[in-house]
Amino acid sequence: MTRLIFLGPPGAGKGTQAQTLAQHLHIPHISTGEILRQAMKEQTPLGIKAQSYVDSGELVPDQLVQDLVQERLEQPDAHSGWILDGFPRKVTQAAFLEELLEKTHQGGEQVVNLDVPDEVVVERLLTRGRKDDTEEVIRRRLEVYRAETAPLIDYYRDRQKLLMVNGNQSLEEVTTKLQNVIAS
Ligand code: ADP
Repeated sequence: MTRLIFLGPPGAGKGTQAQTLAQHLHIPHISTGEILRQAMKEQTPLGIKAQSYVDSGELVPDQLVQDLVQERLEQPDAHSGWILDGFPRKVTQAAFLEELLEKTHQGGEQVVNLDVPDEVVVERLLTRGRKDDTEEVIRRRLEVYRAETAPLIDYYRDRQKLLMVNGNQSLEEVTTKLQNVIAS
């Protein structure tokens, strides 16, 4: 049973790696960013609420993402494991998840931190060209990452759930490293 949380700055390659690994392991890849972008495209109530936050590089309110993650983890395909990408993104969300997993008897999760230097991240984001990848929004997303999300590295290290992987290598190399650390 594989339950994985991917941590790392925007542009670390979490999405790509999480997707590859999820396919390989036949478990769902749950990306809160993707779910929010889809909801915004379809202009669902969730999408409408999230739009202004995502467009400006801010985190959407906890309640919105927590509800969507809880609902997603209750789907039958998540019973055989999952990879969470983009959640949790702050300590309050991590505490929520911890409690949810305990309540639903889904423990044993591991956390992978994809480590990539700042300058590489900015370069990658600028060439990616997503709608929220303008320079100003990228700068804000990185600030939010440092202030809110980076503390999760210590949070999970303290709980002995943390695996570190160097994300500053080719896609294939990162995939191989990930498969090695997770198997162990
Ligand atoms: P990236 O990894 O490039 O930052 P994501 O696709 O993970 O992009 O997220 C895009 C945006 O969606 C974030 O900037 C944020 O506004 C919103 N978002 C995604 N996940 C969360 C979350 N767990 N909490 C709050 N906001 C989130």
